[in-house]
Amino acid sequence: MAIVIDGKLISQQIQEELALEVKTIKTNGGKTPHLAAILVGNDGASETYVGAKVKACEKIGFKSTLVRLSQDTTEQELLYIIKGLNADADIDGYIVQLPLPKHINEQHIIEAVDPKKDVDGFHPQSVGRMALNLPTYLPATPYGILQLLERYKIETVGKHCVVIGRSHIVGSPMSILMARNTNPGNCTVTMCHSRTANLKEFTLKADIIIVALGKPEFLTADMVKDGVVVIDVGITRVTSDSTKSGFKLLGDVKYDEVAAKSSFITPVPGGVGPMTIASLLVNTLKASKKEVYK
Ligand code: NAP
Repeated sequence: MAIVIDGKLISQQIQEELALEVKTIKTNGGKTPHLAAILVGNDGASETYVGAKVKACEKIGFKSTLVRLSQDTTEQELLYIIKGLNADADIDGYIVQLPLPKHINEQHIIEAVDPKKDVDGFHPQSVGRMALNLPTYLPATPYGILQLLERYKIETVGKHCVVIGRSHIVGSPMSILMARNTNPGNCTVTMCHSRTANLKEFTLKADIIIVALGKPEFLTADMVKDGVVVIDVGITRVTSDSTKSGFKLLGDVKYDEVAAKSSFITPVPGGVGPMTIASLLVNTLKASKKEVYK
């Protein structure tokens, strides 16, 4: 039976470690790390995500600033706010919560963020530096997965890792990170997507499978070999008669049957999800300490 990777616990541990470090920094008269977040419009899920990030900052002693903008904010107006955050010496790092309203070009916004403050790791410079294994801010979800693999001491060297999904925020960076000459890393990586023919042929050979496609219970027991490590990134809200709220969250993995064949597996919820905030906070502290860009 699989060891269940407890992302909630690891995320809490990381946040406690960060809180201790911030306390020491403050005691020694150092600068309080400061994260800002821009939220455009009032999408319910985005409000929840940003709210959780701000709350996490407060809990560990960071400063946080939430910039709320209305749904009809223009791209020019948003670029002006970004210019201000780039120039604000007190703000160490900031995020622009995605998705943005349709009339704003996301790529223009991502590229306007000063790479020195790009704690989401989405700027092309950050992505390029990641690929070249240079110091940078790693995107939060993939970074969170690396931290889970590291803290559970999961061997990755020489393993065959299959990544399903090639989004810019999860699948693509994950495939780069698992192939890098780092630990965790040094895998032989197969990147799969919606055009992959015979996906099962690849998953059956995988030692590690990272699933990030957003299709509930997509990965089934017949697609994996015994002893596989399974990292489930998917989160889909589905209606349910068995919960008070009337909905539940499902991952991309048919959990019970795949867990029975796995050596390690992340649950949903409580696996990869909680790690995203922890990684963002780690990146913000790095920005504050000027660890990435001196
Ligand atoms: P996305 O941008 O929609 O990308 C999905 C990827 O899956 C695409 O590359 C797509 O291929 C591929 N795909 C779709 N159907 C497939 C199939 N049948 N076989 C193989 N590949 C297929 O999704 P995302 O943003 O990466 O998010 C993926 C999931 O992770 C979602 O459930 C999301 O909610 C969740 N997520 C969780 C966290 C977190 O835990 N903190 C963070 C981010 C995302 P093509 O490129 O060919 O279209």
